[in-house]
Amino acid sequence: AARDAQGRYALYHPDMGEQITRRQIIRGELRSALENEQFALVYQPKVDMRSGRISGAEALVRWNHPQRGQISPADFIPVAERSGLIVDLGNWILHEACKQARVWQVQGVPLRIAVNMSPVQVLRQDVVSMVRDALEATGLPPDLLEIEITEGVLVTNEGRALSRLRALRDMGVRLAIDDFGTGYSSLSYLKRLPVTCLKIDQSFVRDLVNNPEDARLSRVIIGMAHDFDLEVVAEGIETAAHAEFLRASGCDFGQGYYYSRPVSPSVMTSLLGQDLPW
Ligand code: C2E
Ligand code: CA
Ligand code: CA
Ligand code: CA
Repeated sequence: AARDAQGRYALYHPDMGEQITRRQIIRGELRSALENEQFALVYQPKVDMRSGRISGAEALVRWNHPQRGQISPADFIPVAERSGLIVDLGNWILHEACKQARVWQVQGVPLRIAVNMSPVQVLRQDVVSMVRDALEATGLPPDLLEIEITEGVLVTNEGRALSRLRALRDMGVRLAIDDFGTGYSSLSYLKRLPVTCLKIDQSFVRDLVNNPEDARLSRVIIGMAHDFDLEVVAEGIETAAHAEFLRASGCDFGQGYYYSRPVSPSVMTSLLGQDLPW
């Protein structure tokens, strides 16, 4: 039930009804979407802030729905997590990204590919053998694969998550903490977990130039990461001012619309062959 403008409870609210149907539609259609190959990956460059070169890319999933057009991962990933389909979808994403990264490597442009992994995948399935299978099937060297996880996965079932992540690192796969600074505030896991990279969340980057606190926070994260011998990526870089501030603060890699939106593999390939403007 929802309240109307006069504060009375209504059994049906048009907005709410629409949301529920939308979610139900998504849940009902996700599995067939996977079978019908309606998912695709786009790639967003990660730029080495010192050299200005593209050194890697984050794989981001898209759902091209035949009637509804492109559906955002923010709308269907949570649904896939709740229904468990994230396991099969995540497996497909991992194979697809490794396959593409291997193509670029064979073409002589070895890009490090970053794949997002849901906490549900880390906790519910044997991610270690899944990753090993993907690397073996595609021939991608483990150090060209980076897994992005959020801090949330370390809060619950910490022990199990930690041992799986350690096994991945032992395999040579790189591990990045995504959306760093927005979640679990205890930093003790940084010394127990073999992470290789911190990703500064775009919420800190957005107000960098106007908000001295966000600027200070970004600098603190960069300094701390380097103290721990970790790399730092800043995401959500939208302006030259963002890029300049972060580069001057010692940030290693940058990602965001200023450099490039997420693009198809073929556009990415052409970006790799160009002289870039930054
Ligand atoms: P995320 O991992 O934090 O990914 C970054 C998001 O920020 C992406 O949105 C990207 O397109 C967007 N972005 C990049 N640069 C900029 C910028 O300069 N400005 C702004 N405003 N946004 C920027 P996207 O692709 O819609 O993905 C949203 C979220 O969905 C991701 O957040 C991630 O949590 C999830 N997601 C996306 N692909 C996957 C996937 O393959 N697997 C899993 N498990 N989750 C995924
Ligand atoms: Ca990410
Ligand atoms: Ca992120
Ligand atoms: Ca995010």
